[in-house]
Amino acid sequence: MQKVFLTILCLWALGAGAVGVKSGSAMTLVDSCGFFPQLSLDGQWLLYSPTDAKSLMLKNLSTGQVTTVANTGYPGFDAIFGADGKVYYITQQRKGNGLVYRTGHCYNPSTGKSQVVLKPQHGRVEALQAATGVVVNGERQYYRSNDGVGAYVYTRGSLLYLVDEYGATRTMEPVKGSNGYLWAKLSPDGTKVLFEAAAKGLYVCDLDGRLVADLGQYLMPCWYNNDYIVAMSNAGNTRTNGSCIWLLSVDGRTCKPISSNNERAVQPMVAGNKVVYTIQYSGEVRQVELDIPAAMWQTVALGKGKTEKVKNPASKKDVPRVFINPGHGGHDSDDRHVPTWVIGAQDTLHYYESNSNLTKGLALEEILTNKGYEVALSRRTNTTEDDLDLFEIVSLAANSGADIFFSIHSNATGIVKRINFPLALYRGWDYKPVVEGSLKLSEAVMKYAAQNELAVWTHKERSRGDWSFYPEWGYQVGLGVLRYNKLPGMLSEGSFHDYLPERERLLNDSYCWLEAWNQSLGIDEYFGRSKQFKNGVIAGTVRWTDLFREDEDGRLFDADRQRTVNGALLRLYNERGALNRIFRTDDLDNGVFVFTNLPPQKYKLELLYGAEDNLYTTVKVNVKKNKTSYKNLTLKKDQKPKKK
Ligand SMILES: [Zn+2]
Repeated sequence: MQKVFLTILCLWALGAGAVGVKSGSAMTLVDSCGFFPQLSLDGQWLLYSPTDAKSLMLKNLSTGQVTTVANTGYPGFDAIFGADGKVYYITQQRKGNGLVYRTGHCYNPSTGKSQVVLKPQHGRVEALQAATGVVVNGERQYYRSNDGVGAYVYTRGSLLYLVDEYGATRTMEPVKGSNGYLWAKLSPDGTKVLFEAAAKGLYVCDLDGRLVADLGQYLMPCWYNNDYIVAMSNAGNTRTNGSCIWLLSVDGRTCKPISSNNERAVQPMVAGNKVVYTIQYSGEVRQVELDIPAAMWQTVALGKGKTEKVKNPASKKDVPRVFINPGHGGHDSDDRHVPTWVIGAQDTLHYYESNSNLTKGLALEEILTNKGYEVALSRRTNTTEDDLDLFEIVSLAANSGADIFFSIHSNATGIVKRINFPLALYRGWDYKPVVEGSLKLSEAVMKYAAQNELAVWTHKERSRGDWSFYPEWGYQVGLGVLRYNKLPGMLSEGSFHDYLPERERLLNDSYCWLEAWNQSLGIDEYFGRSKQFKNGVIAGTVRWTDLFREDEDGRLFDADRQRTVNGALLRLYNERGALNRIFRTDDLDNGVFVFTNLPPQKYKLELLYGAEDNLYTTVKVNVKKNKTSYKNLTLKKDQKPKKK
């Protein structure tokens, strides 16, 4: 057996009086592009990533020398220092089948060499600080930097895992109803766990999962010592710009900013009595020292590293995993409320983008799950708290070990213009996505979105890089929700909800379901799984050929000039002539009908209308495996019903 020397932890006695930043200690460590800074425990080395995780840089703070630790496989953002001074980082590789495999590495600053400590595996792989070492934790295999690595914590979805010094795992759920736990950390004395529950806030629990502190809305927390915590404010999804770094005490008595208010400080990290953080957009790394005693770590020696298999992995096969982010949450200012067509200002239906985004997201989850995917979601309800900060969303996605990130929205132009087309945005320049695979995903999803014959499209579908699409936001700023995302991913602006007929369609849950179904066809194509699902879909609208909508501003297009038929009855018969299902169009002026999950064959579709549901039209529809069959139908004002 390896001889193991334990890390000795000494905590200085706490002094009395006011606490805060040591005067004159503030300094800049990196001028720009230093995101996710990590200081070595001795304060001599700084790890950071310039932009978009594409490289991992190491700065010797004594000499000023900067070294590239790695620049392939998106090694940035989640690297850490071990107590041994070595750097532990993860790289990712997307295979031809769309699955992402992640590899664990250890870099030794004194030799300048990296070695693989964990071979490529599917799902989540992360470097975790354990009490006396580092664990590179994967779902199939994990690596421990030394024999007596001590206790550590990590999260998966809405569960918190505590692995004790003997390797036994305890599963805890200290806060119910959260979208997932993030940033779990064991206190220096090993008696408490700090974590954030997305949409709920920052908490401390004991080793049995009992809450001992509820600290409020803070993100990316670190223990400073056993009594103090450093974290950034959760200023809300759209207001992360105004973020600030805070010093909090577990007893709730201290709550004090340690960065100045206008700095836009994010991504705090603690080493000794030093706190480093970065400035949003510029990436300037700043350091302050606090005037209270820190937890001091002294590593005497370490045993040998070892890779082991996970005894009971959650899934046996490497199936594609999708992280879905239904945009917004709650009917707040960043949501987009539009009155409906018919009743205008008297509208009581209240279309909200957050509603249709969630309907689509839940539908996509169900469809993909039925198709054999693993799925995680950033929200399942629609409250103000569900509108997560971008750091929460991006961390939940990373924590899920997903192969793609998929954000669901609809678009708007404002009041004057009326246009309608599907748009995919990925991070990067047009045709040059930051994360490989994002363009392929966007184009596959857009292809099926554009085929939707229920919508009237005024323009061709587009797949664009967000840096090219929003030049006015600044150089390489782009969409917040994609900013720190390392997964191949996209944001779908499925259609324009302020094109009035489109908004009426989005009020129909079956229309939202159809958008999700078409997204699943694009996702199937991306993962090369188009042939694996056996059923298909019939969808269409019913419109009057000779009743027209008022079009005062001349902004209605093609078939959308025609009024839709409310209360039409659709009857679907299978090829043996048996009634399969019925669907009645709603009263919200969209004429939408959708039949889901149909075995491929030739169907007969009947259109009935009127107080007695008289039969008007019969058509044949051929359903194909994993495809949408479109059939738009019309009625004439003076059309006579067929004889029954
Ligand atoms: Zn939106």
